[in-house]
Amino acid sequence: MSDPRRPGSLPALKLANRRRLLAVLQDGRAISQAELARLTGLAPATISSLVRTLSAEGELVVSEGIANGRRSRLVELSPQRRRYGIGIDLGRTHVRVVVGTEIGDVLAEATAALPDRHHADVAMDAITSLVDAVREQAGLEADQIMVVAMGVPAPVDAATGAVTEAAILPPWVGFPLRERLHDALGRPVVVENDADLGAIALARQTGIDDSLVFVKVASGIGAGVAINGQLLRGHSGAVGEIGHLALDPGLSMVCRCGRRGCLETVSSAESIRIALSSALDSDLELADVVRLVREGNPVAVRILDEAGEMLGRGLGWLAMIVNPAEIALGGPLLAVGDAWLRPVREGFRRAVLPGVAAQTRLTLSPLGERTVAVGALVASLREQIVMS
Ligand SMILES: [Zn+2]
Repeated sequence: MSDPRRPGSLPALKLANRRRLLAVLQDGRAISQAELARLTGLAPATISSLVRTLSAEGELVVSEGIANGRRSRLVELSPQRRRYGIGIDLGRTHVRVVVGTEIGDVLAEATAALPDRHHADVAMDAITSLVDAVREQAGLEADQIMVVAMGVPAPVDAATGAVTEAAILPPWVGFPLRERLHDALGRPVVVENDADLGAIALARQTGIDDSLVFVKVASGIGAGVAINGQLLRGHSGAVGEIGHLALDPGLSMVCRCGRRGCLETVSSAESIRIALSSALDSDLELADVVRLVREGNPVAVRILDEAGEMLGRGLGWLAMIVNPAEIALGGPLLAVGDAWLRPVREGFRRAVLPGVAAQTRLTLSPLGERTVAVGALVASLREQIVMS
């Protein structure tokens, strides 16, 4: 009898072929048998036989479809065998949780508001109940969740998952985020900078393997930068903290980082809300800001114009250093669309060389407000980033 563990024996070879085929299908796409042969390097007859066996075992699903313009038999992992994950986008005043697959398909989603300057324990309670809710909504058992990934709006130490910048997210500094989430959810946990996750989601969505930037504009402003498909982290994870570019030291407002003239004191969604509340002498919510801009309120439009123009200038500085093919904007201001994008493009155009202005695509994220949470799914399930 041959020993299946002995390399080169027939069962060992079959096992290796089987693993190779399943690995290619792991990202959830439906692939034709001809393409499977090309991707695995296995003979077409071997693929046919393996697909037959694995379908009979319930590992694969075969359907008729179109590949390269021809009718083909398409093979994909059966839904029970797919890898599911939880993606969490933690903000200073909100949390969004999605459950989905590693290609970024979202099966269920839930959000909750968090009090500003909340204690970390408050957010942990909200996160654990949202995770249970989305998992149940998607009809998944706890053991079908492979990994949990969370984006936080602060620089993160990639090795430990700890927040490294006290000035940016004080409640979380020193909090054992990864351990506590792991204890609460019983799954491997990844913690990453939120904008970095957005950049990963965007690379996956657009297929751009060149350089791109995702900018999250919410309570603060942060950019995720990917160069040639790789995240740029820097020495302490602070790459892309453009909210604290001191673009205008003449400004009267002192930033939460203790310096004057930071981009986010003018251009963050929160700064826009505060400026408009003050101008209209009323305590507005962000939803009111969005409504007033849509209604064409001249004060709201003026404040958004100035904020957008300065954001564009900040992005111009970044673009003159990393020269990305695409910059995509994310966060709650997506709700006002072009009214925001227009002044950002204008500020950007003024800040960069004409050739850079002409060749940089500056746009709203096609993934909308889900960008960071989808990035968490894609990044964690593909193990692109460090896992505990
Ligand atoms: Zn600052």
